Amino acid sequence: MALKLSDLKTTVHNDWCPGCGDFGILNAVQMALAEMNVDPTNTVVVSGVGCSSKAPHFIKTYGVHTLHGRSLPFATGIKLANPGMEVVVEGGDGDGMGIGAGHFVNSGRRNLDMLYIVHDNEVYGLTKGQAAPTMRLGMKTKSLPLPNINSGINPLMLAIASGYTWVARGYAYDVRHLKDLIIKGIRHKGFAFLDVLQPCPTYNDIQTKEYWAGEGNLDVNGRMQPRTYKLEETGYDGVVHASDEVEMERKVQQAVLKSFEFGDHTPIGVFYQNEFVPTYAERITKRAPSYATNPPAAQEIAYPDGTPVTNVTKLLDELRIV
Ligand code: SF4
Repeated sequence: MALKLSDLKTTVHNDWCPGCGDFGILNAVQMALAEMNVDPTNTVVVSGVGCSSKAPHFIKTYGVHTLHGRSLPFATGIKLANPGMEVVVEGGDGDGMGIGAGHFVNSGRRNLDMLYIVHDNEVYGLTKGQAAPTMRLGMKTKSLPLPNINSGINPLMLAIASGYTWVARGYAYDVRHLKDLIIKGIRHKGFAFLDVLQPCPTYNDIQTKEYWAGEGNLDVNGRMQPRTYKLEETGYDGVVHASDEVEMERKVQQAVLKSFEFGDHTPIGVFYQNEFVPTYAERITKRAPSYATNPPAAQEIAYPDGTPVTNVTKLLDELRIV
């Protein structure tokens, strides 16, 4: 039976501020999962700590609301134990690029087959709007007494440098386009990273919905120009089409250069995609062939009378270095 959007909504009270971009991202995630007709009992949404990390409470799949910056290690454990499970990670830029930055970098190196969505609002919304790691040097939101004294991280460039094999940016209020990106990210073979421009109307009064719609960005005829544009409408192609170093380097360089465009002309869409890099599950299976058919989650853990029967000796034997 086809999954309906309403099947993925919970009745948990949502206390996000009115107009928060998190609502757009939540809708896009639910729309994507419904369109893909996922099995909610075989899907998990994992989050860290922050406003956006409340997302698993509102999506009727499995969900884990973990610790600050620790969503990726939790998700890694889930995916390793149960590679057949659909794993989606959600969190803020403070959660993922601040305290979770080490996990962010090392997750890219592993290339697990899952999707990480970052709600990027450049502030720590849950704790009253302090400057988050993606906020640019000199920016001053209404929540800061003085302009930001630190430089901002470029999350797309960091993702590419860390080894993520699908890197994209979406916009929270372009819900249909965002939904399509989420579907692409989930379908990608490897670790997909999706940075989402997420207005926080309560603390970030610079990058508002009106700002992205083009307020103050006028063309020569005085018409408002939206500050986002879609990469796919410009002929940009971020896909690595052949398993060769030259093609890969060319696409990496192109994506890194593109990632610096921000402000009055901000690209959204897929910056980089490379399915020629083996996933972590493929690398493990090469060393321990039984992992493919008998990962930890597929093993019997108890006899009918409840006596534990867990036995991972075979898997460990295969991984043992002799
Ligand atoms: Fe959204 Fe900002 Fe309110 Fe948090 S503080 S719920 S990010 S508008």
